[in-house]
Amino acid sequence: MALPPPVFEGSEKRLEVTFANAALSANALGLRLLPRSSIDELMTLARCEVLSHTRGTAFDAYVLSESSLFVFPHKLVLKTCGNTKLLAALPRLLAHADALGLTPRCVRFTRFAYLFPALQPDPHRAFEDEASTIDAALINVQHFAHRSVSVAPCSGDRDDALYHVYVAAANEAAAVPEGATLEVCMSGLDPAYCANNFMHDSFDGCAKKTTEQCGLRAAAPLGDIVDAYVFDPCGYSMNGLHDAVGGFTTCHIAPEDACSYASVEVHVPSAKILADMLHAHVADAGGIQDAYLAIADSCRRLFGARNVVVAATGDATALAGAYAASGWHAAVTLSQSVAVCASVMESQTPPLSMAMAKVPAMQQAEEEEESRPDSPTAKSDGSEETMMATAASLMSSMSFSSESMETVLAGEDNKAGLMQPFVADCVLLKSWSVDQDAVCRQLAREHERLSCTEDSFYLMDLGVVSRRMEAWRHHLPRVTPFYAVKCNDNPRLLAHLVRLGCGFDSASPAELELAIRAGACSGIDAVSMQDRVVYANCCKPMSYLTHMQTTGACSLTTFDSSCELRKCVSKYPSCRLLLRIRADDPNARCQLGHKYGAEPEEAFALLEEAHALGANLAGVSFHVGSGGDDEEKNSQGDTSAAKAFRYAIATARELFDIGRERYGFTMNVLDIGGGFPGGENGMPGAHFVRTTRAIREELATHFPEQMGVRLIAEPGRYFAEAACTYATRIIGMRSRPTRREDGILVPHTDYTLSDGLYGSFNNVMYDHAELTYRVVHVSDDRANGISDGNATSARLFGPTCDGLDTVIENTMLPELSLGDLVVFPAMGAYTRTGSCDFNGVAVTAANFVFVSSQSD
Ligand SMILES: *Cc1c(COP(=O)(O)O)cnc(C)c1O
Repeated sequence: MALPPPVFEGSEKRLEVTFANAALSANALGLRLLPRSSIDELMTLARCEVLSHTRGTAFDAYVLSESSLFVFPHKLVLKTCGNTKLLAALPRLLAHADALGLTPRCVRFTRFAYLFPALQPDPHRAFEDEASTIDAALINVQHFAHRSVSVAPCSGDRDDALYHVYVAAANEAAAVPEGATLEVCMSGLDPAYCANNFMHDSFDGCAKKTTEQCGLRAAAPLGDIVDAYVFDPCGYSMNGLHDAVGGFTTCHIAPEDACSYASVEVHVPSAKILADMLHAHVADAGGIQDAYLAIADSCRRLFGARNVVVAATGDATALAGAYAASGWHAAVTLSQSVAVCASVMESQTPPLSMAMAKVPAMQQAEEEEESRPDSPTAKSDGSEETMMATAASLMSSMSFSSESMETVLAGEDNKAGLMQPFVADCVLLKSWSVDQDAVCRQLAREHERLSCTEDSFYLMDLGVVSRRMEAWRHHLPRVTPFYAVKCNDNPRLLAHLVRLGCGFDSASPAELELAIRAGACSGIDAVSMQDRVVYANCCKPMSYLTHMQTTGACSLTTFDSSCELRKCVSKYPSCRLLLRIRADDPNARCQLGHKYGAEPEEAFALLEEAHALGANLAGVSFHVGSGGDDEEKNSQGDTSAAKAFRYAIATARELFDIGRERYGFTMNVLDIGGGFPGGENGMPGAHFVRTTRAIREELATHFPEQMGVRLIAEPGRYFAEAACTYATRIIGMRSRPTRREDGILVPHTDYTLSDGLYGSFNNVMYDHAELTYRVVHVSDDRANGISDGNATSARLFGPTCDGLDTVIENTMLPELSLGDLVVFPAMGAYTRTGSCDFNGVAVTAANFVFVSSQSD
């Protein structure tokens, strides 16, 4: 089923409210005194949320889930896009200002034409409705003598090139715009430029990099402090502070082809400052007015925009002349010193026909959601309408607010790819351990709004993956990791790993396809991926070998028996073979040696047989066993894993010598397998450090660089385990006193979780996982943790009807409510990939929410 792409309204609504500043002394903070809770409240009314806050000298700048907010002592500029309702915040804003003793002087509401007017919520479907909403907000607050509503048609009768201005002011003089503004709004952007700069298959916290690489800095003055955000899977916002002059630049980009839009606004205290700033930026522009045009032009060229509309306040009359003279399509001067001009390259047909057809369903969903917040809407019936409705409500609301949270990204849901574009899912955290609970709580509340309070979800921290890759490079610089897909096959994780330089260990056609797709996401074609995949499955059905050969996606595979050797040679004669030998770490959590790996005598015989069969023997592989993490008394000594690696590498060298010398094989690959520890931490611990030290030493001895052997490994758990936190919800409970060993009756509660042993907690059975967990209350901000004074005896059941399905047998828990979270860290390895929907309980559909922690 192909769904129409959801579209995003990029065109912003802009509200600027100024207050009489006579009441303010020079250094007064005025509106800046509003506490964060009031700001959050206002943004909630406007249907967006603060993602980040930068305190400038003269004002505060906030990046919002939909555009930006700037708070000066006597002025507030709120600019929001999407389906926001910023005018809904106006009455409360005026009330807050009143409480601070501030009197409104002017309210300006301006906007360009919406790209998708029919998708706007009331009153934003018509400018008259917007105007009367402001009138209504003002009526009891302040008598404004001056009111004007005007629309500038920037390009003939085109209704997509309009600039709307509403002004209500104490008097004519107060209606003159405060400061000077240049706004450039562009649609129909160059898809290639957008894709290269603002679309992300995987989020890696690269907002800074994006700002530097996308060329924006050359196109317009961005200021000396830049607060930029990249949204996942796509999108970009930035606030730039011209701190010395008390002005800002703000830029917002919606890069999706179906609705591409970008805006750049520069706002400073006076026309003189603006002219100087722009002129300094385009030093070689002819005259001062031309600098305005030069900026607009460089923006247009940068984005390859087909349609550009520019509005400027300040020295507007002169501007209008400059625009007209320079061949822009139209230039109009409105009252209150606003000049607007447009450059419309070609007809813009909103590519929206399909989404338009969904408008009634979306609106209905929106209204339902407003009137019955707890109604069982959406989600479960899976119909197209419902999904569109869910999408609509998510698009209008996706956001989270927490001081610690830097950004929230629009993105993905993994439900078989069906809801792919719809669910908000990426958050950039400043520090991983501290803030996960806040994110979980926010997401849970967001779910609540969507009536999916019974869903588990994963937080996947790609920052952990990046840092572990750095550590890998540091400790094993010669060894290329080929991540074992079976450990966690999330496509976003795989794409991130490719980008970090990883290859893959795939063991089946399905995993091979995942590896190829991950490569494709990063611009690596299937042929080039050949070099980055090992088929490390020692027993491949014939059909796998056929698939391997016909796709040409992988030519390197392992064997450890005569049978497999013959299968490979007969089905895929040219494939490159790695002889897997047995090497066990006795302390590994999951032993593999009883099943895989040739014993030494077998290995020598297999070399001989391979020679006889004319096989292409490329090298040796092994796997010491998964999940080793022993605690040696002597911290200088070898770990048991290190001993296994030492033995295996030395043995491999013997086989290389015989294979090369006696049989003339071109052996040039050593695959040291997986078995590297995961854990709860972003950075690998002592076990990893000590094990890799031993590996480095053995490699230097037995496989020095001049041997020309390519060194690879197959880590799974190492990258995935710490990267995921699993948030499950309380879906049921029963209190029943229980008798302690000493015979005394004590209170006890059995809670049922949204997932259990058949789902992601299959790791308890198959991976011998020892779970750790903590409680996150959703209904209130109670301190988390299980050490609440009144913790009682408790047990955590899974959701299926099997008595075996008990996740935690015997624990102490504070009193929990339905919907509260039990959060399990280190759940990234061998969890989702092994789960099933036994009993029809759909646990494999758990969302992945991508976060990216920063290391600093
Ligand atoms: C599962 C597996 C891995 C990954 O092991 P980890 O212990 O998670 O690193 C690597 N190689 C092979 C052949 C596997 O089967």
